[in-house]
Amino acid sequence: MSSSNPYQVAVDQVRSAATALKLDEGTVNILVRSRRELVINFPVKMDDGSLRVFTGYRVQHNNARGPYKGGVRYHPSVSLEEMRALAMWMTWKCALVGIPFGGAKGGVMCDPKQLSRSELERMTRRFAWELSPVIGPHVDIPAPDAYTNAQTMSWIMDAYSANVGHSVPAVVTGKPVSLGGSEGREEATSRGLMHCLREALRYRKLSPQGSTVSVQGFGNVGSNAARLLRDELGMKVIAVSDSTGGIYDPSGLDIKKVSEHKEATGSVRDLPSATNITNEELLELECTVLVPAALGEVITEHNADDIKASLVIEGANGPTLPEADRILYEKGCMLIPDVLANAGGVTASYFEWVQDLQYQFWTRSEVNQRLDRTMTSAFGRVLTSSLNEGTDMRTAAYMLAVREVVTAMELRGIYP
Ligand code: NAD
Repeated sequence: MSSSNPYQVAVDQVRSAATALKLDEGTVNILVRSRRELVINFPVKMDDGSLRVFTGYRVQHNNARGPYKGGVRYHPSVSLEEMRALAMWMTWKCALVGIPFGGAKGGVMCDPKQLSRSELERMTRRFAWELSPVIGPHVDIPAPDAYTNAQTMSWIMDAYSANVGHSVPAVVTGKPVSLGGSEGREEATSRGLMHCLREALRYRKLSPQGSTVSVQGFGNVGSNAARLLRDELGMKVIAVSDSTGGIYDPSGLDIKKVSEHKEATGSVRDLPSATNITNEELLELECTVLVPAALGEVITEHNADDIKASLVIEGANGPTLPEADRILYEKGCMLIPDVLANAGGVTASYFEWVQDLQYQFWTRSEVNQRLDRTMTSAFGRVLTSSLNEGTDMRTAAYMLAVREVVTAMELRGIYP
């Protein structure tokens, strides 16, 4: 992965939208900074009796349009700069799909694969307790992100509820359904991605059945995307990967078999009938669609020219650096940016929050129908704007989202 600074990338993206929108420097200065940044160093008792201090973050970027919303990530690369970028991207994502939230992101710098389940639980509960003063169902609502899941959200919900003295399901989203989670939330990011891709293929006059796809990352977003693109759109998934490397089969992978193999061996590699490839090779395969769905900064100026897909759809946050954006655009590759492509997750999180606040729950098909409407309409707005403005899809998405946020800020005014 490249070592560029994700926050600087996020700032550059806002600045180019701000220039196109002719925003004044004072407003831009608000947009490129986070409103609040909490850094917490907190102790956790390890299984062997020793004490370890972890560093965690919660960055709240902008709440002009509603409470802060954003995931919690556990990874050794978690840093304040990364959280700043991810929080900012959440602000644009929520504005773009028209849900009433601002942007936030949090995480703990740790290697979750080296922690036992009970260490993860104690770390999560203590982190949630430390976050309690700045989160809440009307303040800031965390959700899962890389290496956190529905169980992590259950622990956060329980720790927060213990702190305030009553159960507060709406303080997090991405919970299990038995705790007030929403039907369909688990796969919603990938389902939303599928809706965007369906529309993009239609616009490009490509049939899904005649198209091939490579997916980098086989976690929540990547594995569900591979399954849905194959089972519901009828696409041929020719390659997938995880942190250990990838596999390739030009005649199409059986995603159920890949999941079972990963479950049994801990990796997608060495699947009988498929060829092992590296993550770098996966990005450069001959295919119609490339779905980066792991971590950030994998498509750079060094490999963008070698990408052969005619469509790139960003399941991950920040997988493409600005210089690579330009190279892809100039060679006619349509890139559907993260703030649009993976917004299905936060959209279903919004549905979950609404259901929790009303204590009324929807069926899976209601959730999926609403998600389809939201994503299809957002895709249409971004495509129309990119055609009208003569820009790439990312710039078009930013212009729409930044304009929404600025309108809310102007209507509210500056306090006092
Ligand atoms: P996850 O932890 O479930 O899965 C991450 C996957 O990436 C794993 O398969 C892992 O093996 C793989 N991976 C890690 N390092 C890699 C590397 N160097 N090369 C290739 N693969 C690697 O995480 P997730 O929830 O699927 O999130 C993936 C991305 O999608 C992140 O960028 C996240 O911010 C973004 N995202 C997630 C959601 C969501 O609802 N979970 C929503 C929007 C965006």
